[in-house]
Amino acid sequence: MNEQLNSDAGRTTRRSPRIAVIGGGMSGILTAIKLQAAGITDFTVYEKADRLGGTWRENTYPGLSCDVPSHMYRYSFAPNAEWSHRFSPGAEIQAYFESVAKQYNVESFVSFNSEITRAAYRDGKWHLEIGGEEIDVVDIVISATGVLHHPVYPDIAGLDDFAGAVFHSARWNHEAPLDGKRIGIVGTGSTAVQITADIVHRAKHLSLFQRTAQWIFPQENPAFSEQEKEVFRHQPQAMDDLHASLTRLFADTFGRAVIGDKAQMQRVEDACLANLEDNVRDPELKARLTPDYQAACKRLIVSDGFYEAIQQPNAELVTAPIERVEAAGLRTGDGRLHELDVLVLATGFDGHSFMRPMALIGKDGVDLKDVWAEATQAHRSIAIPGFPNFFMLVGPNSPIGNFSLIDISERQLGYIMQLIESWRSGAAREISARQDATDRFNAALKEAMKDTVWVTGCQSWYLDKNGNPAMWPFTFDRFCEDMAAPNLEEYDLVS
Ligand code: NAP
Repeated sequence: MNEQLNSDAGRTTRRSPRIAVIGGGMSGILTAIKLQAAGITDFTVYEKADRLGGTWRENTYPGLSCDVPSHMYRYSFAPNAEWSHRFSPGAEIQAYFESVAKQYNVESFVSFNSEITRAAYRDGKWHLEIGGEEIDVVDIVISATGVLHHPVYPDIAGLDDFAGAVFHSARWNHEAPLDGKRIGIVGTGSTAVQITADIVHRAKHLSLFQRTAQWIFPQENPAFSEQEKEVFRHQPQAMDDLHASLTRLFADTFGRAVIGDKAQMQRVEDACLANLEDNVRDPELKARLTPDYQAACKRLIVSDGFYEAIQQPNAELVTAPIERVEAAGLRTGDGRLHELDVLVLATGFDGHSFMRPMALIGKDGVDLKDVWAEATQAHRSIAIPGFPNFFMLVGPNSPIGNFSLIDISERQLGYIMQLIESWRSGAAREISARQDATDRFNAALKEAMKDTVWVTGCQSWYLDKNGNPAMWPFTFDRFCEDMAAPNLEEYDLVS
């Protein structure tokens, strides 16, 4: 099948690739839809779990929602008139992905409970393995493994000694009762802020363990009215218009602020400061909630309910450093024991693993482990020299800030589909990013990073072990232009 030529109306035309898609989250579902649309049906989506949805399947914590507006966070071809809120809850987003997947027959291409552990390129093909056993041989691999899917557990002494329920926010233990309990939350990222605002009223006492104060951008989250939904249902163009205006607004304001537009950044910081000033009464608490680094250096948090939640009489912001966990709770450096029934580790993710721990062996035995030992670099986030016909969605240096990842993934896939067309047309059997083009691209990234807010002196998951941000340091418009069409001179094409 792989080697065959397709016959299109009796005319010998294009070759038909066998493709493996790794991951059944937002990007994997998208890929399955777009491959079918391009007339490619010889593919399998390998999904490690028993259900589609990626991050929205894995994160089920109370208060989970997306801080990208709902009408921005959707596939371009599947607008959704039924979004309940400006920022919709996680369960609704998971249902959206599953319903789009159903509509486009995605599940029939999915192999569930199939975590690819190794992929090796030999004799012009990718050989995929699960647990040492070869399970597929394909022409092209599209990695759609997401960014934030490896939970980071904090290195706190005594975690195993805790007598209550302890779990990471992305592994929420729904068996653990919250009502009337003493709950501790470690971390103050987007996740912890959402959880705090949602569960504070259920807890007997909530202790939020903050290592670093966060900037919090105020944002209301009104429900869409029935009338608004009616307009969306009957005039889908209204959803596209809303999407376009939100995208433009975002790209021209926040999108520019983070890459060096000082006036825009001042507006962001002013809005966060006013939020703090207006909503936190106690000067001592206010001081402890005031960050000592630039706004948006860490991923900016969007919340309307956090300050109110942390000022509830049963809530406490703990800023003494954590010393250790004991059976009864968490002891801080000031000697105090914070007695707890439940301990939530909202301590984030490793955003630099990408498809790893899957082993990836490219041409001539080159091992990704060695290639990425110092830095996770790719060409235009998509391809890695020495790894032919292997393409990534939301790979290194994708614009993963506060943009809609769906837009990003769609544009990257559009670019990849054009590379695949070169394969199908017979122009190239092997498509690899050129090393010199990759080096030039990464040198330009490095140079541009100097102007960004991410390198102004805070710690965040954006930074790799060498302090390089895994971010896109240019405008969103430039990303769109770059992804419009591949420059084939940046690739080695072997026919
Ligand atoms: P995060 O932003 O990486 O925050 C982790 C938090 O844990 C930080 O406050 C960190 O403190 C703290 N922490 C880590 N290790 C610790 C330790 N040993 N002791 C004390 N504190 C410790 O993780 P996240 O909140 O899960 O968010 C990760 C990303 O997921 C976000 O940036 C965002 O991209 C995405 N997300 C998005 C949404 C959304 O609405 N779209 C919602 C949730 C998450 P330091 O700041 O001091 O390091």
